[in-house]
Amino acid sequence: MNSNDIVVVGSGHNGLVAAAYLAAAGKRVLVLERNGWFGGGVTTRELTLPGFRHDQHAIAHIFIHANPLLAGDELKLKSKYGLRYTFPDPPMVSVFEDGSTLAVHRDRERTCAEIAKFSRRDAESFRRLSVQAAAWLPTVAASLFTAPAPLGPSFARLDQSREGREFWRIVQMSTHDVVCEYFENDRVRMHFARIAVENLVSPDEKATGLGVFVFVGFMEAYGIGLPIGGSGRLTDALVACIRDSGGEVTPNVDVARVLVRNGRATGVVTTSGAEFQAREAVIGAIHPHDLGRMVEGIDGEVARAAAATQFSSNACITVHAALKAPLRFRNGEPVRAVMNELLPNHYEQLRRSFDDLRYGGFSQYPLVGFGSLTAFDPSRVPEGRATLHAWDYVPYSRADGRSWDDAKGEYAERMLQHMRGFIANLEPQDILQIHCDSPVDMERTSSSFRHGDLHGIATSSYQSGAHRPTPELGQFTVPGVERLYLVGPFQHPGGGVFGAGRATAMKMKGDLESR
Ligand SMILES: Cc1cc2nc3c(=O)[nH]c(=O)nc-3n(C[C@H](O)[C@H](O)[C@H](O)COP(=O)(O)OP(=O)(O)OC[C@H]3O[C@@H](n4cnc5c(N)ncnc54)[C@H](O)[C@@H]3O)c2cc1C
Repeated sequence: MNSNDIVVVGSGHNGLVAAAYLAAAGKRVLVLERNGWFGGGVTTRELTLPGFRHDQHAIAHIFIHANPLLAGDELKLKSKYGLRYTFPDPPMVSVFEDGSTLAVHRDRERTCAEIAKFSRRDAESFRRLSVQAAAWLPTVAASLFTAPAPLGPSFARLDQSREGREFWRIVQMSTHDVVCEYFENDRVRMHFARIAVENLVSPDEKATGLGVFVFVGFMEAYGIGLPIGGSGRLTDALVACIRDSGGEVTPNVDVARVLVRNGRATGVVTTSGAEFQAREAVIGAIHPHDLGRMVEGIDGEVARAAAATQFSSNACITVHAALKAPLRFRNGEPVRAVMNELLPNHYEQLRRSFDDLRYGGFSQYPLVGFGSLTAFDPSRVPEGRATLHAWDYVPYSRADGRSWDDAKGEYAERMLQHMRGFIANLEPQDILQIHCDSPVDMERTSSSFRHGDLHGIATSSYQSGAHRPTPELGQFTVPGVERLYLVGPFQHPGGGVFGAGRATAMKMKGDLESR
């Protein structure tokens, strides 16, 4: 166990991706995971009953399909290690309280036809938006899978052309600004505004406007991929790849500190006192708020800035259920999209929900989305059964002072009650078992999800790109501590299934070769 070139703290998919590339390059790699299972946010577990396999956190694999990891199958996860995807169409649908629906399809013209049900003019505007999104997609996608470019030169370059300035204008706008500029219909606006909500922010938050273009661009080019067998199949394939290359992935090992000798990371020590040496480097899924405590001798100013990074103002809560039968909407239609957003009849209500959250309360209108992935992959449940994965947004600290451990059952029931307004067969007799993860449970499953924040820290512009999580830590390295590399949703490009560990491995390999 102590003849390792590289020790990786945490078996989240980003740590595993970095480990797998380095193992394939001939390094002897050891991955240490605190939990008794692997994958962090990309894991499939029997959370409710035997035979019911639930994606505990991430369900939708979107961005990773543009990553050369999968686009070029660089590690043979698909061709050798059994990773298979299905891409259901439509990937996303908004279901309004009155039963009307608006779907985003992979095919532009089909989405236009959906939007035309509400406004012909908006269908035309969508075509324009979608063409622009496709034009920007290669630049956006390329930026996601490398170390981030420095901000100053990037802004200067954008300022040199009309198209660059338009891109920069959209980047600074709120999602609300964008949907109001493009669309006239209240529901069409709400449908696209909901995309910001998936990022834990109000559509009124400035500097979220590009999200609409990124979402549309990715939906049309890639859609939403669901690994057959569950989200955790990506993790399984990565673990198999690492082991095949001679590396090890070990559960139930909680790393307490990164050992630093003469300004260089040399290994880790666990909470039980075991030491693991790393001849070449340490990769850590270390939340910025933990850096000061976990990295010996770290520069005080680097640690202080990291500890000052801010969370999203809303946290996430999820409800998983084992169901007797596949879900049906009240109009009798089965679930046909991966992500189903349950929305009010008026956009203003969605915006006001965020005002409730902003002041620490619960949103009067729950912002529930759900997926029932067994509709596309029945291999996850016993024959004829189904699963539900629903999510909503809540304050991390409850204004009533109650702990989430005490109160999460009541909140789960509130979400289910709300969903019953849309779904015909979600009554108590339709549900076999429930599992609820409050924001507190979420941070217990991975320190990345501190405060119930899916992204580790907020995706605000001042904590994005080369400044994520801080300007000094933006290149996946820690100033003053050589050979320590960072992975996690709190690093560029942020929370999501990106396979961002590839960029960390590339950076590390470049550094090691240049020495
Ligand atoms: C409820 C929820 C739903 C989501 N849905 C989606 C979705 O549909 N699509 C999408 O793209 N993204 C989604 N995300 C976000 C996505 O899951 C994460 O951004 C992503 O999984 C982060 O991967 P990671 O490898 O960087 O970190 P993590 O997955 O958090 O992995 C970090 C790992 O390191 C381990 N670890 C940390 N510290 C130590 C230590 N000291 N010692 C040992 N082990 C340690 C942790 O236990 C964990 O296993 C969702 C997140 C949540 C919480």
